[in-house]
Amino acid sequence: MLGGMQDFELRVPRLIEHAEREHGNREIVTHWADGTRTRTDWAGVARDARKLAQALERMGVKPGDRVATLAMNHARHLVTWYGAIGMGGILHTINPRLFEDQLEFIGNHAEDKVLIYDKMFQPIVDKLKSRWTTIEHYIVYDPGSETGAGGDASFESVIARESGDYAWVEGDERDPCMLCYTSGTTGNPKGVLYTHRSSLIHALAEMQPSVFDLSARSVALPVVPMFHAVGWGLPFAGPAVGMKFVFSAVNEAKVLCDLMNSEKVTHSAGVPTVWFAMFQHMDETGEEPQHLQVVTIGGSAAPRSMIERLMKMGIRVNHAWGMTETSPIGTIGARSPDWDDMSFDEQVDEVCKQGRVPFGVEMRIVDDDGNVLPRDGESSGRLQVRGPWIIKRYFKDESGDALTDDGWFDTGDVSVIHPDGTMQITDRAKDVIKSGGEWISSVELENCAVGCPGVAEAAAVGVYHPKWEERPILLVVRKGGSDVSADEIQEYLAQHVAKWWLPDEIHFVDSLPHTATGKLLKTAIRQQYKDFKLS
Ligand code: ADP
Repeated sequence: MLGGMQDFELRVPRLIEHAEREHGNREIVTHWADGTRTRTDWAGVARDARKLAQALERMGVKPGDRVATLAMNHARHLVTWYGAIGMGGILHTINPRLFEDQLEFIGNHAEDKVLIYDKMFQPIVDKLKSRWTTIEHYIVYDPGSETGAGGDASFESVIARESGDYAWVEGDERDPCMLCYTSGTTGNPKGVLYTHRSSLIHALAEMQPSVFDLSARSVALPVVPMFHAVGWGLPFAGPAVGMKFVFSAVNEAKVLCDLMNSEKVTHSAGVPTVWFAMFQHMDETGEEPQHLQVVTIGGSAAPRSMIERLMKMGIRVNHAWGMTETSPIGTIGARSPDWDDMSFDEQVDEVCKQGRVPFGVEMRIVDDDGNVLPRDGESSGRLQVRGPWIIKRYFKDESGDALTDDGWFDTGDVSVIHPDGTMQITDRAKDVIKSGGEWISSVELENCAVGCPGVAEAAAVGVYHPKWEERPILLVVRKGGSDVSADEIQEYLAQHVAKWWLPDEIHFVDSLPHTATGKLLKTAIRQQYKDFKLS
């Protein structure tokens, strides 16, 4: 017997329909790369998305075809999300910071049919046009650029021809709607193909108070790019609550700070690097974001010093863990019921951990033999998750599902789970330093090191040791003007970590390699030090 309630397919166009109907005049602001600022609203985004859907159909795009973007955060990019998905297509957000070969691989692997790009990425498009074998139509977002080097039609001219009289394509909620490739910290990019259903349920989870804490009153400036891990789901959660969006096509701290103040931004989200840059701007100018209430930091571990500084500004810091494969929310925030009874330091300690799962994600840790480990805050094991917005199989992966025999996705991260359900990342499985059979967390060493005055950035890697198998060395980038010494850093570290964790050597470097999303590129660092001999 079936229940007596309505079948209401959980499809993405319902989000934009809702925003248009219930929050039509809530603003969407864009600061463009040329410094201009424009405004539209949810009704305008919905109208333009319908026009784009018509235009894509006119070009011969069919449901299931991939429509790619190579773009920063702005209103036209948002229009593309809803236009491409609304006509049954699969939106493929390409990360322009990937390396050339990866970009070529991704475009061909996805079999993109259309590419819509920002003029600032014209050099990439020019270089790869002849190597992308499936793209039939190129459109440029910037008005007036159609006469430029590429000679491609402009977005505005493409949608201007359409009436906007269009009904969103209906279908199964399990149809694919979006494709995102992992940024490749750990090898070749792999495609994650989201469904309408997974995206919609994720959006519903994301707006909760214990997750992103969003409402119609929120004004959100996502610094996280829309091309990185579904823009952390914000482009889907935004219309669900009808919040105001403030987009910036440039990520300079000064621009972001100005926007945050003039548009009264309450919510922001980005990787730790973003906040380092903001702090530097604050130190140099004395300006600071005045209206921020909630800042979500994720993508890599947020250092304690960063969390502390933001919390001292009266901001709620949401430390989130997730990955492209988890849509991306896995765990977030950590506000235990006794939060108000905690000292400030205890609260900071709490936020340094990666938080708890929202309803919808289940997690466990296992040892190398797959035995489930206790949630005792001490046992450290491989983190595995499952749920309606967690990956089952990578796009076009003929080798089968990316799951354990009993249906869990192994994240490749190593963590502990505390008795209250708070998860704490110890390391990535590949980055753990194995010294004499015991594990040293490279992440913890790095985060501790950046708390030392004079240290701008640090990377810990394991290098070969004849007795201990591996020992840590620490690469340090000094802050401008600092002459902090290796001994001073060792002394600082000794106050915070076990003695046997202290790096055998500290090397000063001018810069460290990063992935396309601003994380330390550990594979490159390990490669560089693979034959290194400790002196
Ligand atoms: P990639 O795997 O290509 O780097 P993702 O952006 O999907 O792409 O990165 C997911 C990974 O980032 C996680 O598996 C984890 O290792 C790391 N990560 C994300 N958030 C955090 C966090 N808050 N603390 C520590 N590591 C994190």
